[in-house]
Amino acid sequence: ASREGTAGAPDGPSLTPVLSSHWDDARSWTLETYQRHEGYDALRKTLRMNPDEVIQTVKEAGLRGRGGAGFPTGMKWSFIPQDPSNSVVTGTVKPHYLVVNADESEPGTCKDIPLMLATPHALIEGVIIAAYAIRASRAFVYLRGEVVPVLRRLQAAVAEAYDAGYLGNDILGSGFDLDVVIHAGAGAYICGEETALLDSLEGRRGQPRLRPPFPAVEGLYACPTVVNNVESIASVPPIILRGPEWFRSMGSEASPGFTLYSLSGHVRRPGQYEAPLGITLRQLLEYAGGVRKGHRLKFWTPGGSSTPILTDEHLDVPLDYEAVAEAGSMLGTKALQIFDETTCVVRVVLRWTEFYAHESCGKCTPCREGTYWLVQILERLERGEGTEEDLGKLLDISDTLLGKSFCALGDGAASPIMSSLKYFRDEFVTHFEHGGCPFDPEDSALVA
Ligand code: NAD
Ligand code: SF4
Repeated sequence: ASREGTAGAPDGPSLTPVLSSHWDDARSWTLETYQRHEGYDALRKTLRMNPDEVIQTVKEAGLRGRGGAGFPTGMKWSFIPQDPSNSVVTGTVKPHYLVVNADESEPGTCKDIPLMLATPHALIEGVIIAAYAIRASRAFVYLRGEVVPVLRRLQAAVAEAYDAGYLGNDILGSGFDLDVVIHAGAGAYICGEETALLDSLEGRRGQPRLRPPFPAVEGLYACPTVVNNVESIASVPPIILRGPEWFRSMGSEASPGFTLYSLSGHVRRPGQYEAPLGITLRQLLEYAGGVRKGHRLKFWTPGGSSTPILTDEHLDVPLDYEAVAEAGSMLGTKALQIFDETTCVVRVVLRWTEFYAHESCGKCTPCREGTYWLVQILERLERGEGTEEDLGKLLDISDTLLGKSFCALGDGAASPIMSSLKYFRDEFVTHFEHGGCPFDPEDSALVA
């Protein structure tokens, strides 16, 4: 990971290492190291506040969900019925739950896993604060199943937190009780969709539920549940400690604060770059040493493969929720995948579409059938056996997916196809005119 300022820093925002500031410390994952850097001070401060004050602080900071959608975190917390009597249904008081979505799987997205590996206590401290705010006494971290080292590290950190009195009964003598369960999923992308995640956590096959009701009203075991992304939760302790004004001193009015940008692909120094919202790709690329030597940017994703691709025309678009939307895409997970001019856009889109077809849960027809047929058409186009008519079919099927699928996976599958045809239609045509792919696969090897 590259997080420090580098030579040739751009005229623009500096990097702002907060979450990543101690990732390079020796044994950064231990409680001892975490406590040396104000670790759990925010929890001590929280326990002197009342839960509503905690929610208000996060609301004032304007923290937006870092899982991709950017929904305001404090507002989500405030949807949880704060008066337990509101939760009485047929005479039963429903508990509240906090669920951390740690099922990071979006292609190109790789920020939560390093965060949990390097500083698991940053997540655990955030979990305790968030659970206190929403009056939950049980929290779950739903972790992507394949990342066994992260599972072990989180389990060890939770054990350390119990031993130190940060978890369990009567936390730090406050009277607040919290148990945390780390749950490993079984490696299905759809289980990152929050309601499929809840089904999976309940022991069922993970498939999205109809929303509304949103989880805040009816979530885990049909009880009010906050589902938040890892980075969102880990951002809470510094906000509590330093205040909402400090957080708002970075970023823009509508998209305040700092965030982790993950640069990958044809870039000289791929890695995590923590910077204010609103920094541009041009500025981030200067920190990252630019596109690989002798090459130029062709296209990129602002937030993983589910967000429409952008091109070199968009190098100066501020990377915040509003500006990226205005440019025709979404900030998403801030997974900036960089592709240079040696890359065949048709091949990349085919690869992504194969992924969506493989991960489609099969619940709704537009996505189950549509992703299958998209792969068939893209495969023949890539081989140079497609036709002009196929381009129309790609758009037609994508249109049936976009906004008409049961969950966001369908939208995600349509996005790269529609956006690549918008910017690179000629390249699709070249494939069938040329009778094959005009690019040499050796050229686009991902080496800086
Ligand atoms: P969404 O906008 O529907 O919801 C975002 C959050 O806000 C959810 O937690 C939802 O419960 C809450 N919410 C929205 N409206 C609400 C309301 N009226 N009342 C109460 N709560 C409300 O987005 P989504 O479908 O949950 O997620 C889509 C995003 O996920 C995409 O933008 C994509 O970038 C991202 N994504 C991330 C990954 C990853 O690995 N991190 C993987 C795939 C997709
Ligand atoms: Fe399942 Fe795809 Fe439909 Fe989502 S859009 S419910 S992943 S079939």
